[in-house]
Amino acid sequence: MTEYDFAIIGAGIAGAGIAAELSAHARVVVLEAEDAPGYHTTGRSAALYSAAYGNATIRALTRASRAFFDAPPEGFASHDLLTPRGCLYIARADQAEDLANVEAGAAGSGVPCHRVTREEALALCPILKPDVLDAAVFEPDAMDIDVNGLHQGFLRMAARQSAVLRVRSQVTVLERDGIGWTLALGDGTTLTAQVVVNAAGAWAEAVGALAGARPIGLAPLKRTAMILPWPAGIAIGAWPAVIDASEDFYFKPEAGTILASPADETPSPPLDAAPDELDIAICIDRIQQAADLPVQRVVRSWAGLRSFVADRGPVIGFDHAVEGFFWVAGQGGYGIQTAPAAARVAAALARGEDIPRDIAAFGVSAAALSPARLDRSVRVDA
Ligand SMILES: Cc1cc2nc3c(=O)[nH]c(=O)nc-3n(C[C@H](O)[C@H](O)[C@H](O)COP(=O)(O)OP(=O)(O)OC[C@H]3O[C@@H](n4cnc5c(N)ncnc54)[C@H](O)[C@@H]3O)c2cc1C
Repeated sequence: MTEYDFAIIGAGIAGAGIAAELSAHARVVVLEAEDAPGYHTTGRSAALYSAAYGNATIRALTRASRAFFDAPPEGFASHDLLTPRGCLYIARADQAEDLANVEAGAAGSGVPCHRVTREEALALCPILKPDVLDAAVFEPDAMDIDVNGLHQGFLRMAARQSAVLRVRSQVTVLERDGIGWTLALGDGTTLTAQVVVNAAGAWAEAVGALAGARPIGLAPLKRTAMILPWPAGIAIGAWPAVIDASEDFYFKPEAGTILASPADETPSPPLDAAPDELDIAICIDRIQQAADLPVQRVVRSWAGLRSFVADRGPVIGFDHAVEGFFWVAGQGGYGIQTAPAAARVAAALARGEDIPRDIAAFGVSAAALSPARLDRSVRVDA
């Protein structure tokens, strides 16, 4: 018999979430290469919940996550996981089509979003330039996420259910025999598990290769973010997040400062991503074309890897060719806002069950998540 039912590789939001769900009824170990969980992409997000963001599968998982965010299990978090923010999608005259696509995507998924007049948009965010702004769409229910609260909540829940978290435990070898998997770690130790769950973020393709799985075409794309100071005395806390309709930049209030991003997507190998001075300058320039944002200095900046497959949907399911190897990858720029529903879906599929009915009701299907959809030689059933 193996020591564990599930060995989860990666303790970011994906690994933590599935660990919390699986450990209620199974022996779970979570293996994290770094000193602390959340060091990579999970600790570097913009912490936004926008149900209008991403493709149809992402929007469905985001909406299906809302109930958990609003009412997590007893003792999960010490305060609210979501706080109201609102999201204002803005467009110049030449971006009318992109804005219409945002609106149509939201309407198609039942996400409340409505056109606002230029005056209403300026009232929501007074620094927008009236001569540049042509049209805007407002998503009133967009929220700020307490990412640390969610991540730590998942980890605490897993620990209470006897899941074991091992940090400084990089998985370097995966071998399968008739009983299950043997995992070798960087420190020379080994452990055994029935199922390996690959929640390794930007490294998921590399971990797949360790297991002998075919590539899923995962592309880690670097995204830069920064904190810009805001003059004291001018209240900005109630401003919405402002997102360019073509996603060329976004900014939002963050504890009296401005969090901004050029929404860059630079291909990168999996690594500890760092911001580039040029991307910071591009961000400031793009925002200053649309808004009167004085920038004397950058308080701090960072970058993280958002990992996508070709259709920009998440990859959740057993590998079709490698027995006992389960993918939880490709969360892209939406891994936090989709985490509660994605974790429940992943746990159900990893146990061989159907997707929970309340989540399927949002239009989430196993076929749309399956790694098999990325391999044209495999037929994917609807
Ligand atoms: C600038 C930026 C803004 C973003 N904004 C948002 C947002 O507003 N809303 C939103 O929902 N999402 C946002 N995201 C995306 C979100 O952060 C990611 O989708 C999510 O964090 C991915 O989580 P993960 O657990 O898959 O990856 P990670 O957090 O990277 O975790 C993977 C872990 O696996 C570990 N690992 C890798 N290989 C091994 C190995 N061999 N052995 C052991 N451990 C291993 C790594 O050390 C890492 O800790 C943003 C991302 C960025 C960069």
